[in-house]
Amino acid sequence: MTAETLSARELKALVRTVPDFPAHGIQFRDITTLIAHPEGLSSCVRHLAAIAREAGAQTIAGMEARGFIFGAAVAVELGVGFVPVRKSGKLPVETIGIDYALEYGRDRLEMDPGAVNDGERVVIVDDLIATGGTAVATAQLLRNAGAKVDAAVFVIDLPDLGGAGKLRDVEVETHALIQFEGK
Ligand code: AMP
Repeated sequence: MTAETLSARELKALVRTVPDFPAHGIQFRDITTLIAHPEGLSSCVRHLAAIAREAGAQTIAGMEARGFIFGAAVAVELGVGFVPVRKSGKLPVETIGIDYALEYGRDRLEMDPGAVNDGERVVIVDDLIATGGTAVATAQLLRNAGAKVDAAVFVIDLPDLGGAGKLRDVEVETHALIQFEGK
């Protein structure tokens, strides 16, 4: 049985907006309502997978934590492997890492350097791109491990925050299923 595939407009209606979380002035785009909806989740995964397939994905990488939900499902849909890009100190093996700037302070992402082969085309999947800082750091980290990275696929883009431009500056093309204005 093939489930109904929802349109971008229908997917957008399933995202819950929570004002002033985690800080005043932020409109938090909460995907838990989208992934709780059976056709919402499966449609999202099919749309993301179609883009990642078109981009030539040989492996999918997703960032902790919400990137794991969509990224692993996309990898299954494409029949490829999944690489978790983790927050600091979580992986049980020797890692490579990258520090990057947040709006306030810094953060660090880590991965197993043996998780990708040299020259393997890895497509990044995450729930949302805002400023692009996380995705740019992820692309750099994957490249340091030997991957070829030229595409990143998101459920949601916040275009006013300029993330797609930051990714373009490092030669990664941004794709997103839906957009929301503002931050
Ligand atoms: P950035 O590095 O600025 O592109 O932010 C990336 C991460 O922050 C995404 O993976 C989201 O999970 C989270 N994030 C940033 N802004 C929002 C928002 N308005 N609503 C929900 N999540 C957000």
